[in-house]
Amino acid sequence: MKALLASLPAIARQHRQFLPTIAGSIRIVQREYAIIPKAAPATADQLPLRTGRPRLVILGTGWAAARLAHDIDPKLYDITVISPRNHMVFTPLLASTTVGTLEPRSVAVHMNDIQPALSSPSNSLYIAEAQAVDPAGRTVTCRSADGVSFSVSYDKLAICTGSQGSTFGIPGVLEHAHFLRDVKQAESIRQRLIENLALAGIPGRALSDWQRLLHVVIVGGGPTGVEVAGELTDFISNELRALYPERARGMRVTLVEARELLGSFDASLREYAARKLIRRGVVLKKGVVHEVTERDVVLKVCEPLRRFLPRVINLVHDV
Ligand SMILES: Cc1cc2nc3c(=O)[nH]c(=O)nc-3n(C[C@H](O)[C@H](O)[C@H](O)COP(=O)(O)OP(=O)(O)OC[C@H]3O[C@@H](n4cnc5c(N)ncnc54)[C@H](O)[C@@H]3O)c2cc1C
Repeated sequence: MKALLASLPAIARQHRQFLPTIAGSIRIVQREYAIIPKAAPATADQLPLRTGRPRLVILGTGWAAARLAHDIDPKLYDITVISPRNHMVFTPLLASTTVGTLEPRSVAVHMNDIQPALSSPSNSLYIAEAQAVDPAGRTVTCRSADGVSFSVSYDKLAICTGSQGSTFGIPGVLEHAHFLRDVKQAESIRQRLIENLALAGIPGRALSDWQRLLHVVIVGGGPTGVEVAGELTDFISNELRALYPERARGMRVTLVEARELLGSFDASLREYAARKLIRRGVVLKKGVVHEVTERDVVLKVCEPLRRFLPRVINLVHDV
């Protein structure tokens, strides 16, 4: 830098018309270097810096947390966000990432992009799980992914930890099924799909294995299950058909629902969705999942919904 500064007057002499500008630049550069001492970077122990403002601690980086972090005035509070993930997920688009229609980065936004003040030394984003809250002492005890425990004091606390996916106590769900609530889970579904499509193409594959590898079972006929089924059928009839026509023909998608498809929606919408799915080849089954094994989904009551119309539920024997 010194060499550059030393050479500037010579450069300026060669380009006299730019002299005032260049001289001005030299002054600014020299002043910055002269009066701003190079501070040693603060260590994690020294952060966040205390400003005297009340500290707002936000637990979570989901919809509620992101909205609060976005809307809060960082001049009024020092902000600490604590969550196992550093980004907010735009969940309505998550289903599209399971088949590659969207890339994961298109549905996730880093918290610092939502609230740029989180980069300031008086604020912080900790990638950790809140484990306990002590309202009397106004502290939250947390644990990082690598097992480091620490506590954070607060003046105000916002608990935005949402809800967790439930296995409903069904054996095998944790071990053998995928949830779809965040980007990592969407990626693992996509990975499994890619793996199974590749494995199905191995020569000498037994027919039963081929059928199993190309069969996707979705449990839950709510909006997420229906969206995933729709995305899968799009993927099969577009990308997969072009890449591996045989495997596209062998693919099956089954949607299992214990009660009504899209139960909270208006009857005409439910009917519309059911018709669309059936037309695209999705097998709709009414059943309660009893167990999930490495190779099977065992249903307690299992009835295919032939010509499924929620108003005229026509249950027939299993196929
Ligand atoms: C695939 C999918 C599609 C959806 N589509 C729609 C839709 O189209 N329209 C709609 O209205 N809703 C939709 N939803 C529902 C919507 O996403 C939820 O209602 C919403 O996410 C709830 O927001 P939240 O902030 O309460 O919780 P979440 O968004 O679940 O956020 C919880 C946050 O808390 C964090 N956390 C969890 N435990 C801890 C802990 N111990 N310490 C610190 N942090 C923790 C999590 O990592 C996460 O960041 C969809 C959900 C899914 C899964």
